[in-house]
Amino acid sequence: MDTSRTGSPAPPARVDLAGLEAAELERLLEPDGVRAFHARQIYRWIHRRGVSDFERMTDLARPLRARLSARFHVSEPVVEGRDRSADGTEKFLLRLGDERRIEAVFIPEADRATLCISTQVGCAMQCAFCLTGRMGLVRNLSPGEIVGQVRVLTAALGLGDERFNIVLMGMGEPLHNYAATMKALRMLADPLGLAISPRRITLSTVGLVSGLERLRDEPLMPNLAVSLHATTEEQRAALVPVGRSHTLTEVVAACRRFPLKRRSRITFEYVLLDGVNDSPEDARRLVRLLAGIKAKVNLIPLNAAPGIPFDRPTDQRVDRFAGILADHHVTVSVRRSRGRDIRAACGQLIVEGLKRSPAQHLAAALEPSDGR
Ligand code: SAH
Repeated sequence: MDTSRTGSPAPPARVDLAGLEAAELERLLEPDGVRAFHARQIYRWIHRRGVSDFERMTDLARPLRARLSARFHVSEPVVEGRDRSADGTEKFLLRLGDERRIEAVFIPEADRATLCISTQVGCAMQCAFCLTGRMGLVRNLSPGEIVGQVRVLTAALGLGDERFNIVLMGMGEPLHNYAATMKALRMLADPLGLAISPRRITLSTVGLVSGLERLRDEPLMPNLAVSLHATTEEQRAALVPVGRSHTLTEVVAACRRFPLKRRSRITFEYVLLDGVNDSPEDARRLVRLLAGIKAKVNLIPLNAAPGIPFDRPTDQRVDRFAGILADHHVTVSVRRSRGRDIRAACGQLIVEGLKRSPAQHLAAALEPSDGR
């Protein structure tokens, strides 16, 4: 007889606090006799100080710490690999509770660093030039996992009180994991936590129209970057399959309706593919498409990789495209790849099955989208 099953019952699974907003934490802990004040202290420990072990929350009474440890835990992505480029860009391979893996990237800048984080494991969007899409969508990240990337990277990099920007440009489509992404933004903005203003966060989307419409009414509004990549419906549908149900016209119309604060603009990302969408005609069509929108264009020369059926255009072609936009008074920047020596390239996050050698897998590294 298997006696291992007849002993004392397994202790109940401990509840994970990682994805709870401060008010939720207060409500959850109240029946345990934890006062709201203490719940806020706990939130501060977790999200501002990056401490997930209750025993280290030294301003809580010992018996309370013990009670918390018995009933709760704070899950955290585990740094499984870390690669540093000569230019300072660092990519982190993170293991989640279910052994899935994602990546997040640290991009230092003279004035302010940027953290690039993921919102999904894999991605359902299947853009023709993006490796992440090849994985398909494995699953959504939880709010705790989205915020956890920031917590873990800040601790690993010793960022302390340093300010940084965040771009949601890692794996996944943030508007396809809408509720979790917005909750994560609220948690990051909480003054009890890192107090990261949404003005320092850029949400990059393939342009899901319903998501854009919802985003319009959010009290916490991040900067918006829309991945356009095309100037005709045919091109768009071929490069961004979701474009078949969300036409360019609809996406641009949704952008036109987007409420923008004074001086802010929508960034349009445009991956340049040699001989596909990088002609002078494309540039001129792009100018017309964006007419009347407070826009800036971020050109991303393709980061080529085996399995991506496109080429990167020459610098001359890139400059010619950028020149036409500039001549028509469109603010334009070119995103130069960072971290080439660690094969870091934007849009190339694909980590499943590459568990042991982070140095070999492709990662995303990109400059902040604002390259004025
Ligand atoms: N799903 C979001 C965030 C994803 S990645 C979005 O589509 O915007 C951030 C940017 O990297 C997007 O503009 C994406 O199109 C781009 N990208 C993807 N693959 C790329 C590649 N191989 N080379 C250059 N940019 C790429």
